[in-house]
Order: sequence, then C-alpha cells, then structure tokens
Amino acid sequence: METQAGIVSKPLVDFHGIDEELVQKMVHDALVWSSLHGLVVGDKNVQRSGKVPGVGMVHAPFALLPVAFPENHFKLACEVAPIFNQLIDRVSLDGKFLQDSLSRTKKVDVFTSRLLDIHSKMLEMNKIEEIRLGLHRSDYMLDEQTKLLLQIELNTISCSFPGLSCLVSELHRSLLKHYGEYLGLDSKRIPSNNTVNRFAEALAKAWTEYNNPRAVVMVVVQPEEHNMYDQHLLCAALKEKYNVKAIRKTLAEIDAEGELLSDGTLSVAGQAIAVIYFRSGYAPTDYPSEAEWRARLLMEQSLAVKCPSISYHLAGTKKIQQELAQPNVLERFLDDKEDIAKLRKCFAGLWSLDDTDIINRAIERPDLFVMKPQREGGGNNIYGDDVKQNLKRLQRDGTEEDAAFILMQRIFPTVSSTFLVRNGICHKDRAVSELGVYGAYLRNKDKVIINDQCGYLMRTKVSSSNEGGVAAGFAVLDSIYLT
Ligand code: ADP
Ligand code: MG
Ligand code: MG
Repeated sequence: METQAGIVSKPLVDFHGIDEELVQKMVHDALVWSSLHGLVVGDKNVQRSGKVPGVGMVHAPFALLPVAFPENHFKLACEVAPIFNQLIDRVSLDGKFLQDSLSRTKKVDVFTSRLLDIHSKMLEMNKIEEIRLGLHRSDYMLDEQTKLLLQIELNTISCSFPGLSCLVSELHRSLLKHYGEYLGLDSKRIPSNNTVNRFAEALAKAWTEYNNPRAVVMVVVQPEEHNMYDQHLLCAALKEKYNVKAIRKTLAEIDAEGELLSDGTLSVAGQAIAVIYFRSGYAPTDYPSEAEWRARLLMEQSLAVKCPSISYHLAGTKKIQQELAQPNVLERFLDDKEDIAKLRKCFAGLWSLDDTDIINRAIERPDLFVMKPQREGGGNNIYGDDVKQNLKRLQRDGTEEDAAFILMQRIFPTVSSTFLVRNGICHKDRAVSELGVYGAYLRNKDKVIINDQCGYLMRTKVSSSNEGGVAAGFAVLDSIYLT
C-alpha cells in the first residue's frame, strides 16, 4: 500500500503462516518480562489491588508485537508536539477566549461549569501563574484513505502511561532481539522511548524553579487506582534521578489536610507543596462531594506549580479543540505561518452543533461522525446510529443541550491483524492503532525552560470497538516499528 510519501505500510509478519509454537514461546517470554520489569497494573479481581502497592498485580494488556508505522508520520507527530505545547500555553493566557468559547457549554454541562467557575475566580483575583508546567499527550490516528495523520485530541490533564509506554517499547525490543531473526524484524526499528525520564525531568525542573528545597511534588490521585504502577514509575524516576520527593494525596485528603499559608504556599499535612501533578480531577466522578471541589479551588489559589492549571485544563477540552480548528483562530495564538500550517494539517473536521448543515449531514451519514461530550478517560463518545438518534432528539427538544457536544469527522485507520495479550491469554484479532506523542512545556515568566516532545504511546484496539482507552478496558499498550 502506497502512502502519500511513497512509504509502504503492510503487516509486519505473516499472521496466517506464523508458527503457533513460536507465538506461544513469545507470549511466555513476554509475560515473564512484564512481571520482572513492572509492566503491570492492579488486578481488578483482587480487592485491595487499587489501594495497596504490591498486592494483586497483573501484567498490563499489551500487543505481542509492535505495529508498523510510517517513519514520516511518526516524525511529523514528534515535530508538532512543541508547537501544540506553545499553543496550549498561549491559549491558557487568554481567559476571555476560554470563557467565551465555553459559555454555551457552561449552561448545560455542570462539570465544565464548575471548572469555569474556578477559572473565573482566578481571573477576578488576577491570579498569575508565572511558572507553567504542561505534561501533554497529543493523540492521532492515521487515516487510511487520505494517508493523513489526524489528531484525535490533545490531553492536558492526567495523561496516562508515561511509565508503562516506555516499558512496552522495551518489551518489544527484547522480544525482537530474541525472535527478530525468525520474524525478519530488526529491534532497532523501534524508536527509543524515554517519556518516564523526560516527564520526571520536567517535574524536577519545575520543582527547582519553585525554589523551596523543603517542598515536595504532590501527585493528586484517585482513592482507588489500578494504574498506580505507571505513576510509581514516574515518581521513582523523580526520586532516583533528581532526588525530588513525591507524596500521593486524594482530593478529599487535600481538602482535609490542606491549607493556604499567608504567603500563598500550599501546605498539605504540614508539608509545603512545590508542584501539583494531577492524575485525578479530570472526571465528574473525581468530585463526589463539595470537599473535592474545595480542594481543587484551594490548590488553584496557591503558589504551587499546577500540572495542569485550570487554564491548561480548560485549553484541553474538546470544545476548545473544535474552536481552534475554526478559520483564523490559530492565527490569534501563533505567529509562525509554517507552524500554523503544520498544525492545521493535523486537524480533522470539527464542528459545533449549532451548524445545521453539518447536523443534517450527520443524521444522514452518522457512520462518518463521532459525537463527543466534554469528558476525558474514554467511554464517553457517541458513534453510529446513536449519533443519529441523539442529534434527532436534540433537534426535537430544541434546548441548548447540544452545546455539551462537538461533532468530529470519524477517522478510519488501517485495520490489521494483531496478537493481543490480556490476563495471560493471547488472541489474534483485527485491530486499529492510535499514536500518542508526549510533550513537556515548562516556563518561568519569559524564560521557556523546556518545550519538547518526550516519547510516545501506541494503543491498539480491536477494530470492532469504537473507543480506545487501555484503563477503560478497550485497548492494549503497544509500540511502533518504523517502516
Ligand atoms: P477521551 O478524552 O475520553 O480519551 P477521545 O477523543 O480520545 O476521548 O476519544 C476516545 C476514543 O474514541 C479514542 O481513543 C479513539 O479510539 C476513539 N475516537 C475518538 N475520536 C475519534 C474519531 N474522530 N475517529 C475515530 N475514532 C475516534
Ligand atoms: Mg482525553
Ligand atoms: Mg483519548
């Protein structure tokens, strides 16, 4: 198959002719490797596995072999990462743009409305974030027909798998070192992947900028977290490489133990906090009571570096993604024409639901669209016939509820055979993949300290499934084999 740049993409191995015994050997080796190297998650079948480290671990779901990916598209995704970082930073500074763009959404989406309330309060206080840290992941699918790398979304909060993604690349490299000769594959074609150390470096440098040697990094966590080892890998790198200590607190604990000192320092259980790294707080379920909202506001008011700040969080919503794709909007935030052109080329069709032409087209051909609410974490989007039903219902009701959603062009990546390994069992299936490229951005006032791509995550899911989250149970972790 020819891509635009003339690069051939075909399945890596002959999945029909492959020796079954070889597959079983590789699965066995991969399972041992995962257990020994911490490519693990909490096992939901074991009661305390989401709370107590070391209890009830199971290997993270993974693809047995990396997926073929064209080198030019991989390079492009890496190249635009710093531009997206800069864009998010610029957008975050335009409080009016964020409030205006989300003003209709605010009326019908209680969760977004609460976030906007915190944002409004910060605007009223004239709160200035001098040290700004973004740890992002921009996700893409390669559209088979157009051969375009199209952005699915840009995550600015709680980007998962900076730790486990590196391990999957290492697992695949290790398998190819042993079995590559039989398979005709070269382990060197798997690009190096160092997200865990790059993110640790960014957290450490933000900590340094904060400039209080006694302060610590605080990871905001969910009360139960089955993906805790991914987070622990990052904190271990932070401790071992940079000698920076991290504590873990839930939003409820921060409400109970946190206070704002008179100089603006955030203190939690008597400990000064330099950097707040959110791995919770992105979903309505993270705020079961007012306590959690109080904690979020308390943190936002403090001097601590927030990853993300409320502005960065809002800049990563789907509504803002859609607004940025409108004509002449990128130009408000970026100066370099080439940069603008590069980003725009990654944008899929994105529409707000007040566009009647597009609504009618989507009712006619719902299979070509995805309907998205302002939510994170997977499992929230609407596909296929449900798009049609929901759009018709919204038209009938004539309320403003449509403002909760955006419409997006559905992207159709190439389907290929894959071995998916889950819970110690390998099965072959037809699958599609989504590439995520991590980016880190750190600045203090006018000084940009870091603006870089930091590594990648490939996620592969059976092609019959619409959604793609690994934690949500739809996808497996994967890496790439450059072609
Ligand atoms: P979330 O913030 O919940 O991860 P996403 O926008 O990433 O929301 O959507 C979740 C999943 O749905 C993606 O990982 C992808 O598998 C699928 N998806 C999202 N948008 C599209 C699209 N435009 N075309 C095809 N699949 C999509
Ligand atoms: Mg997301
Ligand atoms: Mg996503």
